[in-house]
Amino acid sequence: MSHSATAAGESLWRRIPLWQKILAGLVLGVLAGALLGEDASVFKPIGDIFISAIKMLIVPLVFSTLVVGITAMRDPQKMGRIGARTIALYLVTTAFAIAIGLLASWVFQPGVGLEMSFESGVEAKQAPSLVEILVGLVPQNPIDALASGNILQIIVFAIGLGISLTLIGEKGEPVVRVFESFAEAMVKLTNLVMALAPFGVFGLIAHVAGSYGLEVLLPLAKVIGVAYLASVLHVLLVYSGLLALLGRLNPVRYLQGILDALVVAYSSASSSGTLPVSLRCAQKNLGVSEGVAGFVLPVGATINMDGTAIYQGVVAVFIAQLLGVDLSLMDYGMIIVTGTLASIGTAGVPGAGLVMLSIVMAQIGLPLEAIAVIAGIDRILDMARTSVNVAGDLMVTTLVGKSEGELDEAVYNAPGKS
Ligand code: ASP
Repeated sequence: MSHSATAAGESLWRRIPLWQKILAGLVLGVLAGALLGEDASVFKPIGDIFISAIKMLIVPLVFSTLVVGITAMRDPQKMGRIGARTIALYLVTTAFAIAIGLLASWVFQPGVGLEMSFESGVEAKQAPSLVEILVGLVPQNPIDALASGNILQIIVFAIGLGISLTLIGEKGEPVVRVFESFAEAMVKLTNLVMALAPFGVFGLIAHVAGSYGLEVLLPLAKVIGVAYLASVLHVLLVYSGLLALLGRLNPVRYLQGILDALVVAYSSASSSGTLPVSLRCAQKNLGVSEGVAGFVLPVGATINMDGTAIYQGVVAVFIAQLLGVDLSLMDYGMIIVTGTLASIGTAGVPGAGLVMLSIVMAQIGLPLEAIAVIAGIDRILDMARTSVNVAGDLMVTTLVGKSEGELDEAVYNAPGKS
């Protein structure tokens, strides 16, 4: 190829918005998987490199963004308010999610008339108690928290450091400036890593699409369909509804603004791994301030799992139907309570929701072995639930930003998102 042709190709590539390239990676990945079958795994290393590169950003990005955000806010009362609103919105949306999941399975009955056998010993997990969660929040050693990537502990330390830096006034300035410069470098690095996203998404999806044959998917097509439908309904009804009603914001702009994060969440099945992309979407596309995004999103990626809650509702009812067990109203109530707790305890990594499902199953007396029925296709369900998990974090971030006057509506309403 001549130099000018290469240059023309390069500038054309640059002109295509990132989200379109990422979507193209997704579609081409599905095609490659369908055509090549298991051989499509040759592309997986590209996806793995991309995922490692985003994960590399999580700890330094979250830590520096939050310290800078807190020092910029300079108002402990405001922090408290933001914290309370965040937790309240996360809990309410999760309860809605699980109810939608239950309702969808109840209406469409994906497990009725299905014959499946299962074996394998699955051990019941315990839902974490509130006291355990609270005690675990405070790091004994912040370096250890940073090294092991314990996000909630990192948040607690970053808030403490941010407040202290503000309290010491001028003496804190040099450190604040270092963090500002570091945070900016991390945002830049996120942008550089995101240039790999179309290829990474392609590699990840080609591998997934190539490893699930129709013979595994078809018998479970109905439950997969119900879980996906409930997920889409939750985003379209609950998230859009709350944005419009509570935030007086146009939900279409929100959906456009979160596309990058959705596709990365879908292909990686990890909401923690998607965090750098979510932070980027929140600030760059939705116009949320660094302080609000830097606090609300990492908390959400750790405790807010609406997609996982939907999944628990759908699958618990599906398995009850499969086994011919009638669930009482009390059982449904139990699923909502334990499912909400279990989703809070779910880590934002692939497959975590499947393990936490055992809490809900044990609570309503369903045999844990039945989880094996869906274990084989869990990745397909995981991709959808992770996308909803990330969409939920971004919705709450937008609402909290709006309620605190920390949302730049000119950015939020801008039509062209990258
Ligand atoms: N993979 C999900 C996430 O990262 C958690 C789950 O398995 O439900 O958000």
